[in-house]
Amino acid sequence: MKAAVFAGQGRVEVTDVPAPTLGDDRDVIVAVEACGICGSDIRALSVPPVMRFRPGVVMGHEFVGEVVEAGSAMAHLRGQRVVAVPNVHCGRCHYCRANQPHHCDHFEHIGATTAGAFAEYCVVPGDLVHLVPAGLHSDVAALTEPLACVLNATTRAGWGPGSAVAILGAGPIGLLFVVIAKVAGARPLIVSEPNPVRREDAAFAGADLTVDPTTEDLVEVVRAATEGLGAEVLVDAVGTLLDDGLRCLRKGGKVMIFGCDERARITISPSMIVNRELSIAGSYITRGTFPLALLLLNDQQERFRPLITGRFDLEEIADGVNAMRDGRVVKALVYPHGAPRAADREPATPGAALVGKEG
Ligand SMILES: [Zn+2]
Ligand SMILES: [Zn+2]
Repeated sequence: MKAAVFAGQGRVEVTDVPAPTLGDDRDVIVAVEACGICGSDIRALSVPPVMRFRPGVVMGHEFVGEVVEAGSAMAHLRGQRVVAVPNVHCGRCHYCRANQPHHCDHFEHIGATTAGAFAEYCVVPGDLVHLVPAGLHSDVAALTEPLACVLNATTRAGWGPGSAVAILGAGPIGLLFVVIAKVAGARPLIVSEPNPVRREDAAFAGADLTVDPTTEDLVEVVRAATEGLGAEVLVDAVGTLLDDGLRCLRKGGKVMIFGCDERARITISPSMIVNRELSIAGSYITRGTFPLALLLLNDQQERFRPLITGRFDLEEIADGVNAMRDGRVVKALVYPHGAPRAADREPATPGAALVGKEG
């Protein structure tokens, strides 16, 4: 079958690989309908890489598809449309046995350390599969994994109606945070982003105020918008902005670090954390948040669907990676069995994605 593999040194190659087979009676094989290109794929493909993938691995972990083969223990899943948690925990380490599989010491990551879903077929443990609601479009369902990761952060961020929230970075992940913060009632909702097109996307997604941190003083803008106090919760969706993030917080505020850059090193002032009783938290992968992600995607599909602005055949995956890296598309999906014909697609939305447009 055709698959896109990580070929090292910034290269993704479409090549023929053996089709997957069932490992045991709890595995299922999914015919992949669509698979999103993730920021982590782009980071693995940068030179030098800022995220490590196994050389030769089939990439892709944000997928939706139909179960076409199932082990005997998973026969009930045959023919179902599913998404899957792409992190396979070991079940044996301290954290797995303490019912914290999201902290497993021996993860296999589908699409990074073990074969993923930029391929016609992908094998996954049936226990990690979730059924896609009948009314949820597959394109939107492909956002389940990134949204579930975002929800791991937001359910721990402790924000609610009236919370003053700032989000740094309005790439696809930052925009998912914006939509969720808006739905949660954050106010004001401030988004910092240097790219003007992405600032426009953030405004459509629900930001009350957008900031260009290259020409404006971020800390001053956040203070001015919050009666001089600062943000209650700030999300660093870039992963390198902790210093700025802490300075934007009010006393008792919290930074959620979401972006991941293994090379980033930050200098911060411990005394500011002490004197202002600030909290710093990181958020890594999903944490039992797939069901909530599917529920919200199904409820709010029209808010989420405009985030998908790029659709590519498997052979065009390198174009998709470049388009996302350059910010020409917000979220790109790859279709291993062929991208939908133009007539079946959403109208093109050059410039701003129309997230949150009323109606
Ligand atoms: Zn991802
Ligand atoms: Zn484990």
